[in-house]
Amino acid sequence: MLANVCTGAIKGIEGFAVSVEVDIAPGMPTLAVVGLPDAEVRESKERVVAAVRNSGFDFPTKRITVNLSPAELRKSGTQFDLPIALGILAASEQLSPEAAAKLKDLLVLGELALDGSLRPCAGVLPMLISCKDQRKTAVIPPQNVLEGQVSGAEFITPHTLKELADYLEGKAGESAVKIAYIPQKEEDVLPELDFSEVKGQALAKRALEIAAAGGHNVLMIGLPGTGKSMLAKRFPGILPPLTQEESLEITKIYSICNLMGKSKLLTLRPFRDPHHTISDVALIGGGSSPRPGEVSLAHNGVLFLDEFAEFSRSSLEVLREPLENGRVTISRAKETVSYPARFTLVAAMNPCPCGHLGDPLHPCSCSPMQVNRYKSRISGPLLDRIDLTVNLNPVKYTDWTKTSEGESSAAIRERVLKAREVQRKRFAGTPTTANAFMTPKQIKEFCKLPAGADDILEAAMRKFGLSARSLDKILKTARTIADLEQKADIETKHLVEVMQYRPLDRKGVADI
Ligand SMILES: [Zn+2]
Repeated sequence: MLANVCTGAIKGIEGFAVSVEVDIAPGMPTLAVVGLPDAEVRESKERVVAAVRNSGFDFPTKRITVNLSPAELRKSGTQFDLPIALGILAASEQLSPEAAAKLKDLLVLGELALDGSLRPCAGVLPMLISCKDQRKTAVIPPQNVLEGQVSGAEFITPHTLKELADYLEGKAGESAVKIAYIPQKEEDVLPELDFSEVKGQALAKRALEIAAAGGHNVLMIGLPGTGKSMLAKRFPGILPPLTQEESLEITKIYSICNLMGKSKLLTLRPFRDPHHTISDVALIGGGSSPRPGEVSLAHNGVLFLDEFAEFSRSSLEVLREPLENGRVTISRAKETVSYPARFTLVAAMNPCPCGHLGDPLHPCSCSPMQVNRYKSRISGPLLDRIDLTVNLNPVKYTDWTKTSEGESSAAIRERVLKAREVQRKRFAGTPTTANAFMTPKQIKEFCKLPAGADDILEAAMRKFGLSARSLDKILKTARTIADLEQKADIETKHLVEVMQYRPLDRKGVADI
């Protein structure tokens, strides 16, 4: 007998439909899975055998062939357990013809525990979205109910294989396989951390405001205790809200990584802060069954790299591709996958390995060679992709004792939103979402220099040894400052302000 069950798989962050064909024929008892399954899918066999037996069915002692079609695309994940088990029940005629006939209207996803109960699987949201047009009812594990809700697909959530079989046989009502979903009160709650709590550091706060307004990357350099991480953690609180489209895109990535929290759709921009000992694969994505890395989990949000110079050289080098293209491409022998990774980089580092270079209270214990080696870890090409560099000074006693609070995140965010609105209108109908992502053609069109500005830029090029790419960055950042002031044209003062944030040269961090 032959049976066919529809399921899904993931390529990149998109799902695609997979047809599970099960054939049972006389012969040596075997269970073979073909059609480019990876190791995870091949392990499914053991779970399916136990789950079928422990659900009160017989496991056929015959030659069973499972084909996953289309055969040319690699399949990974644990969602194949349930469709394979159902296919075996249908092909061995343990489901009635009426129940088996219902299979063609289902899209079945789920991992099986050995006792036949359903376990959650990764990537349910993108698979449901891509298969929605087929107008099938999805079968998903109860733990994936939020993703079912977000997808807008019609779905049921049986707890066990037996419960699903009973439902198909008409023995159980719909209530047995449907979860009554109680929507939680959803509010766009902004992080509680507020900029008003950070004393002093006006220049750094301004740099972060510009970064939020135009999507620019920032590097903060300062002594330990100057508030670098405090500032970075407050950065998401001044960012604009996610658009519906951005929200869905980032939620799909979290679904694939099995990181869906209690919320349905992610509404706040992600903030990821991996430790500097992170592996390249965890940072950028990859592995034998490729998964998105931290750069993709930070998509449409913030990637905060504290102790920037302590990251391995190879980790810093692999960051260049997403910083440049907003995507990462992972090539494997059999396939190439690509994940979105358009994030705002907020990096922080000490001025030297011991952290005290320029500290009036503690002497620095590093040799000049150690300091140079430390600075040169951040290579020129990487620095070129950082728009704003800001030195943080030790907090002055007068700032510390100030009783009046600094400006609140809400007030800063209001200016950011207005500047973003200007950009939304400017880039309407193009893929560009913020000034930082302008194409060379758009820079030419929207970043016209004021009279006399050529001299300033030329002087800056000589002084800092800037590359052509750095000049583009200066123009884009000046455009953002003009947008914050709601000015139609870039003025000389905007360019001068940008220059404050470039205390660098191509060889590394200078002027500390
Ligand atoms: Zn030092």
